[in-house]
Parts: sequence; C-alpha cells; structure tokens
Amino acid sequence: MSPAVVITLTFTLLCVAHCYPSVRMFSRTVAKKEGSQDFEHTHHLKLNNSFEEEELSVSAIIEKANRNIGQKLDKPLIVFGDIAVTGGLHNADPCTSKKCKWVKSPNGKVYVPYEISKMYSPNERYKIEEGLKSFTTSTCIRFRPRKEDDKDYLYIKSHDGCFSSIGRQGGLQLLSLKEPSCLHHHVIQHELLHALGFHHEHVRSDRDKHIEIHFENIEPDEQHNFKKVNTNNLETPYDYNSVMQYGRYAFSKNKKPTMIPIPDANVEIGKAKKMSPNDILRVNRLYKCK
Ligand SMILES: [Zn+2]
Repeated sequence: MSPAVVITLTFTLLCVAHCYPSVRMFSRTVAKKEGSQDFEHTHHLKLNNSFEEEELSVSAIIEKANRNIGQKLDKPLIVFGDIAVTGGLHNADPCTSKKCKWVKSPNGKVYVPYEISKMYSPNERYKIEEGLKSFTTSTCIRFRPRKEDDKDYLYIKSHDGCFSSIGRQGGLQLLSLKEPSCLHHHVIQHELLHALGFHHEHVRSDRDKHIEIHFENIEPDEQHNFKKVNTNNLETPYDYNSVMQYGRYAFSKNKKPTMIPIPDANVEIGKAKKMSPNDILRVNRLYKCK
C-alpha cells in the first residue's frame, strides 16, 4: 500500500473516531476575514510590524497555506495553526518526556529518517533538503534518508498546507510542506522544529511576561492557537526572533494585533527568516548534543 493511501486511511479513521466534533471548531472563518475592511492601526504599529508588512512572516505564510485545513473529514486535525494531531489534543503537548524525542545513537548523533515525496520537482526537493541539512552544522540532529528497517520516520509531502506533529509519533509521520507556499527556508525549519518536539514561542509557559495576547482581536475559531502550554523552556529566554514565534497579527479578525510584546510594544516579533541562536540552543539542550 502506498504511503499516501496509508496516510489518508489513517487520518480518516482517526478523524472519524476522535475529531468530528472538533473539526468545525478548528476550521477557519475565511469569509469573515476576507470581508473585513477599514481598520485602524496605532501610529507606532504602522511604522513597525504593520499588518501589510507581515506577508512573509512564518505565521502569515502558514496561516495562508492552511486556510482550508480541517474542513474535511479526510484531512488531519490541525491545532495551534500548524500542528497535526492524530489522537486528541493531549498529543499537542510539548516534548518534555523521552517518548516523543528521537533516539540518540551511541555516537552522540540523533538520526531522524525521512522520505520526501516523489511528487516534488528537483528544485522543490533541493529546498527541502537544504532545510534538513541546516541542522547539521549547529546541532547533533542528522536528518537522513529512510532505510528499509527504519520504523519511525518523517514523510514529507505536499499535503494540504504546512504542518507537522510535535515530536516523534512512531511509524510514518506526515510533515506537510505544500508547494509552493510552504517551501521557504524558515517555514521548513519551523515544521522540522515541531517534528523534533518544539512548540510555538507564544504559547510558552512564561509568555505572559513577554507578550500580551489580545483575545478580542483573534478570530473566534482560532483562540485555541493562543492557549498556553506547560512547556519545558530548557532555561532559554523568551525569543521574539525565534522561528517558532508567530507574527503580531496572527489569526487577527480585524487587522489589529493579536500579540503585543511587553514591556516594549515596538519590538519586532515573528520576523525570523531562519532559526535563531536560541532555537539552535534549545535543540542542543533537548537532545543533549555535545
Ligand atoms: Zn507551527
């Protein structure tokens, strides 16, 4: 049976069993978003991190690419914007225990097998491979092509948006990079960091000290994206420049900010074009890279 058939069947069965009541809850209200107009910005927000400047932020790309996810039963349930859940919300927890970490080999490297769908063009495949390779110079993570006896692996495919599960799930694990919208270096790194066990920066356990969430500006169906998670922060500081930090206007229903940094509201957030030094440090701490 082909991987595509296995994925479709798995998600169909899991969604029928677990997700149906939730699918509607997590679907986007696109019509409402598109119908909105004439919104005010405060002056400083216009100058810095304006809604119009957000186009290439990781969250804007993911939000756009994932617009229609979760509206059909044969699609995976997506929570927190781009995290695939196969067995209920508890699976979206951060990787704080060993069970969702990838296994460390005796030589100190953490090999993460992958298979890339043959549907990508050579150029698209090259972009994905560059993202996979980008972990090699700074961490002990080694993404490598799947061998026949690898049971757990990432299956990278242009599915219905950009999304990944958090940490190792066991068996074939879909990581969707829809072409062409998701094939940006920072988006690829973002989804790979999810697969390694990392959550979004703005749901960190200590986020309220660093960011103010404006629930009144968030699409009603998207409020779950801002639910705080009891993350293991690995003694690293909150990082506005993390590739896991969403932009100021993520899931806004009215073009007003949904997240404002504190104490300095003017600090840029969610603009990273690649993993930050803190993102790298976290990988090295979680996997105890030497
Ligand atoms: Zn994400």
